[in-house]
Amino acid sequence: MNSRRNFLQKLAASVIAFPLLSPEAISSMEYADTKTDDGPPLRVAIMGLGSYGTRVAEAMKDCKRARLTGVVSGTPAKITNWQTKYNIPEKNCYSYETFDTIKDNPEIDVVYVTTPNGLHHDNVIRAAKAGKHVICEKPMALNAKEGQEMVDACKKANVKLLVGYRMHFEPKTLEIIRMRKDGELGKILFFQGLSGFTIGDPTQWRLNKALSGGGSMMDIGIYSINGARYMIGEEPIWVTAEETKTNPQKFKPGVDETIQFQLGFPSGAVASCLSTYNMNNLDRFFLNAEKGFAELQPATGYGPIKGRTNKGELTQPHITHQTVQMDEMAGIILDGKQPVVPVDGEEGVRDLKKIDAIYKSVSTGKRVELR
Ligand code: NDP
Repeated sequence: MNSRRNFLQKLAASVIAFPLLSPEAISSMEYADTKTDDGPPLRVAIMGLGSYGTRVAEAMKDCKRARLTGVVSGTPAKITNWQTKYNIPEKNCYSYETFDTIKDNPEIDVVYVTTPNGLHHDNVIRAAKAGKHVICEKPMALNAKEGQEMVDACKKANVKLLVGYRMHFEPKTLEIIRMRKDGELGKILFFQGLSGFTIGDPTQWRLNKALSGGGSMMDIGIYSINGARYMIGEEPIWVTAEETKTNPQKFKPGVDETIQFQLGFPSGAVASCLSTYNMNNLDRFFLNAEKGFAELQPATGYGPIKGRTNKGELTQPHITHQTVQMDEMAGIILDGKQPVVPVDGEEGVRDLKKIDAIYKSVSTGKRVELR
């Protein structure tokens, strides 16, 4: 049964059993602590109540294992709204100023950081110092050095650090990975990744280098890097990249509009990818191999993902990505479950190393070795 529905039934029973307690008091008491069918719940505080944080919160309503129990926000009106909408008690609400006291809150296991990229480093390290596990949105940081510092801080604090790689739990993606691992595709030869959309408002943080760390590559191109790695199943050993900029007014220095990049892999496989903020309808992965092919289009949107291989259409069901992700992450954090494709901080750093190399190749015009 849907865990939220289950909970609401229990809540109704509690109101009858404890008539002097307000429904809200019972609600926060029970919803946070009630065991799920699969074990204790992962109690999550979302930090940064923007567009993606809202999507995660909505998706968590259907989670079996993960529950939204807290918020961290710089906007008091959003906190009030979320309290009502998601039944969050006052004691689990924080501003960026009061956030460090979350360490004394036993109703929160993990902080999910959904703030702009440039804030992830500070936000994650603070959460770790407060003794909380952390889930951080992609890109995990602005560069590999920052990412490694975050990994080190979480290790030192003895907390887990995961990155919000929702595609690592997507059934059609996982089927292609299974086919590749089982040898059904034969030797992998080539991958093409196309990731892009036309970005609007020129004043948004995604076009502000301090908050974004770059342009399309940080935001959407990372899907092609990450995809090349999980579709081919190897770590690239070299990178070449070229930038195209048609609108320098909108895309200031350090904010990339379009980058074409190539990755070389130890087996000899190559990837050819495009990352852009200036073209729509670009969300496609194509894997070519000796015995067949696999294609995903859309490959990384919110779904449903569509795909086919040389054997036919992929028919695995669509489930809201963030719902699956949060339930799977509950298993990883609470039970030490191992995902098929890693989602830990080290995985985030691997992508950032490729992004660093891509930017270096763009600026030097040279191939960058990754060994
Ligand atoms: P939004 O701008 O919609 O939300 C970011 C939120 O962060 C704000 O609403 C605000 O919340 C908080 N914030 C704190 N400081 C600042 C600041 N200086 N400027 C702006 N916002 C601030 O961004 P998104 O939700 O689209 O993206 C957030 C993160 O999630 C990014 O890292 C992005 O890459 C990632 N993302 C991941 C996706 C995925 O599919 N995995 C999809 C979309 C985004 P408050 O007012 O509560 O403090």
